[in-house]
Amino acid sequence: MREKIAACRTWVVKIGSSLLTDAGLGNGTSLSPGPGLDREAIAGWAAQIARLREAGLKLVIVSSGAVAEGANRLGLGAMPRELRLQAAAAAVGQMGVIEAWESCFSKHGVRTAQILLSHEDLSNRTRYLNARSTLTSLLKLGAVPVINENDSVATEELCLGDNDNLAALVSNLINADVMVNLTDQDGLFSADPRKNEEATLIGNARAGDPALDRLAGAGGSLGRGGMITKLSAARLAARSGTHTIIANGREADLLPRLREGAEIGSWLSAENEPVTARKQWLAGQLTLKGSLMLDAGAVRVLRSQGKSLLAVGITATEGSYRRGEVVACLDASGTEIARGMVNYDSGEVAKLLGQDSSRIADLLGYAGEEEIIHRDNLVLAC
Ligand code: GLU
Repeated sequence: MREKIAACRTWVVKIGSSLLTDAGLGNGTSLSPGPGLDREAIAGWAAQIARLREAGLKLVIVSSGAVAEGANRLGLGAMPRELRLQAAAAAVGQMGVIEAWESCFSKHGVRTAQILLSHEDLSNRTRYLNARSTLTSLLKLGAVPVINENDSVATEELCLGDNDNLAALVSNLINADVMVNLTDQDGLFSADPRKNEEATLIGNARAGDPALDRLAGAGGSLGRGGMITKLSAARLAARSGTHTIIANGREADLLPRLREGAEIGSWLSAENEPVTARKQWLAGQLTLKGSLMLDAGAVRVLRSQGKSLLAVGITATEGSYRRGEVVACLDASGTEIARGMVNYDSGEVAKLLGQDSSRIADLLGYAGEEEIIHRDNLVLAC
């Protein structure tokens, strides 16, 4: 599986707070923000990334550490739990995060660019397209974008949550070939290595393999993401055909060695065909405006034949949504099997439940699209 790395031209490198802010404090026990940014480590990754860039690769960094660094700079003594305090700490700490990357990269003559993304930037189609073209332009210009969540404006309901998820969405945004998720652990293990001596490293697997679900344990105290979020990020990344590597960021010369195919960390391969950009955007929608309950026939047709969703297969609608918004499609047990952009408002869908498409004009008084969700605007859950 590792041979595929040779063909990977675009990399997203995600570095977690526990690595960036020094002293192994991401061990799950300490709530201290620690002694601040580990500049030596940052200089090391910058040097590795500069080398890969010279070899012709395009690289984007997703860097955490803003909240932890801010808490440290403000002398808070503990990682803030309250959202507004986290936002304030992030605003202070982001200065340090960016300054550290910029100064480390400037030694290699490499320009960095700061991009702070919020939920809305990825959930609104126009802003999504803007973010994509800015990132693509930066890569063409040879700059290294350093991305973080815009924590200082995030709200509880509308935050991307953790940078694992953010890195996956960024991978989708730019169709990255590989997402390297650097953490303070050696990869994904068969059991929690901190509790079980017999735990073995999963070297290579398919990101979509259901057997991986029970392997992922909980996260450390500094970053928000644990192995569970790393696994679901790998699956989200796989939707754009992006492979994932989860590896220990403290390994010497890690990135160039990975590039040479070294068997370090866990390689989670994206086996599925990359889906179109529109479908990736749909898949990344975190706020769904409602849901449609499908009968068994519709579930089968969607899953196996890749067809559009018609009113005849819908048994119920929930939530208040408008044409063009994204809803979940659920089977009878409530499991999400797909999500898509609806052609009708929720009130209209309620009138069309179970009906043949030929009756739409009679029931609504006008003839809209034949489908409730067109197959081009529908993406199946993994
Ligand atoms: N965006 C947060 C920060 O920079 C980190 C989120 C995470 O660790 O996943 O502090």
